[in-house]
Amino acid sequence: MQLKSGEKTYKRPVWVKSGEEELCPECFKAVGDKNRYKLICLLGRSPDGLNVSALTKKLKLSQPTVTHHLNVLREVNAVERTESGRQHIYQLNRTAHCFEDCQIPYN
Ligand SMILES: [Zn+2]
Repeated sequence: MQLKSGEKTYKRPVWVKSGEEELCPECFKAVGDKNRYKLICLLGRSPDGLNVSALTKKLKLSQPTVTHHLNVLREVNAVERTESGRQHIYQLNRTAHCFEDCQIPYN
C-alpha cells in the first residue's frame, strides 16, 4: 500500500475478510460501507457486468441508493460503466488499486 504523505489509514472493516489490515482512504471509501462492499462482491462474481436494476434486486436496496454507491465506486476507479443500448452496465475494475495494491477480495 502506498500512501501520500500525511494521509491517514483506516482499519479494514470486519466484513472484508482478508487484505491489508490498514486501508488507504481510497480503499476505505470503497469498502467502508457494508452494502458498497456487497456491491463489489456481486460485480466480482459477474464478469459480464450487471445493470442497476439487477443490482437493486440482488441487494434489496432502492435504486437511488445503489446508484449512489456505484458513483462512489466509480470515483475511486473500482467500477467501470459501459453503455449497452439504453442500459448502463457496471463492471468491476479488477486491476484497480483497491484490488491489486490493497488486496481487497471481491468474491
Ligand atoms: Zn488502497
